[in-house]
Amino acid sequence: MNGMFFRASALTAVNSIAGTRGGARVGTLGTSSIRQQPCELTVINASAETERHYADGTRQSTGRSRQPMLRGNMPETLHVVCPHCDAVNRVPRERLRAGAKCGACHRPLFEGRPLPLTDPNRFAKHAEKNDIPLLIDFWAAWCGPCRTMAPIFEQAASRLEPDLRLVKLDSDAAPELAARYSIRSIPTLLLVRHGREIARTAGVMSLPQLIGWARDHAERAMA
Ligand code: ZN
Repeated sequence: MNGMFFRASALTAVNSIAGTRGGARVGTLGTSSIRQQPCELTVINASAETERHYADGTRQSTGRSRQPMLRGNMPETLHVVCPHCDAVNRVPRERLRAGAKCGACHRPLFEGRPLPLTDPNRFAKHAEKNDIPLLIDFWAAWCGPCRTMAPIFEQAASRLEPDLRLVKLDSDAAPELAARYSIRSIPTLLLVRHGREIARTAGVMSLPQLIGWARDHAERAMA
């Protein structure tokens, strides 16, 4: 009898606790957590996907399906034109940052400084045969803003190589190249890959602006 009573009252007590406290929890905490959790997950998933899309420069596919595609588009070896002898080197991607040297002249493929080019044939080879984009600074000796830009561009070389090849192009020494790319004001920065213009900007930029601008457009072009 006692046992049954205690069991019954114990059950009632448990039920009432569950009914009030538990019910209250379900009504407030429970409901709100049910509402919040899918909401947060949705938000987290959506923002994670958006970030991946943004980084990839695309919007349609999910991050998960996009990444293998991106890897598939990135070749294991890259063609890099030697800044010294203009030989086209095939360089494994992982060796680019490990002091890769030219197979023909054995000099470093990257030395952390811009490459001056004026000869149209040399320029064409670098602009078309490199798998990495060319960042070209069109300048002239008489141009004040170009002199302001020069040390910034110089510093950018060590930051952007080997993802990009930085090129200085004296528009007075190579007027035909300035005309071909319709350069109307200097300094103009031009981003070119496989001979095609990716982006351009005119005027002086700070080092962070320059690096951000170049990386943003180069990554989109390489994706
Ligand atoms: Zn070489």
